[in-house]
Amino acid sequence: MREALALAAEGAAQGEVPVGAVLVIGGQIVGRGFNCPISTHDPSAHAEMVAIRDAAQRLGNYRLLDSTLYVTLEPCSMCAGLIVHARIGRVVYGAREPKAGVAESRGRFFEQPFLNHRLPVEGGVLGEACGTLLSEFFRARRRKVPAPSTEVSLSVDAAEAPLPQGAEDSAGGA
Ligand SMILES: [Zn+2]
Repeated sequence: MREALALAAEGAAQGEVPVGAVLVIGGQIVGRGFNCPISTHDPSAHAEMVAIRDAAQRLGNYRLLDSTLYVTLEPCSMCAGLIVHARIGRVVYGAREPKAGVAESRGRFFEQPFLNHRLPVEGGVLGEACGTLLSEFFRARRRKVPAPSTEVSLSVDAAEAPLPQGAEDSAGGA
């Protein structure tokens, strides 16, 4: 999770909502990613998506059995679907995402009976550190005077959204 946090901070330095993820198999990190939809012009570029793609490419396998995904924020519905498709073995996340998280906040996606793959999911690991990174990022962004010409995408995305403790804007994160 500390590696995922470091990746999240890397994203923050690039102006992206700081969420990081790593995929681990057999004690080795096989995939890394941080949330980067703005810089890549890719709305699917959440941390989990990037880390899982990275691992699948590296391993030459679209199924990532016996893997553990560490992500700093509770997964959204898109990433939860991906986690099941990729046959991830286990998910460990940090902060809760009250607006868009589907592990516990907006329902319990991973317990749905229609899923053909089951996995344990654990939240709250380094949750405070993961949440603080997000809330400090948004606080710093709100302090900035809006610059209409160049920062339109940022302000539309997340800068104006009120942020609950430890949460991120649902449009920008994992
Ligand atoms: Zn996501």
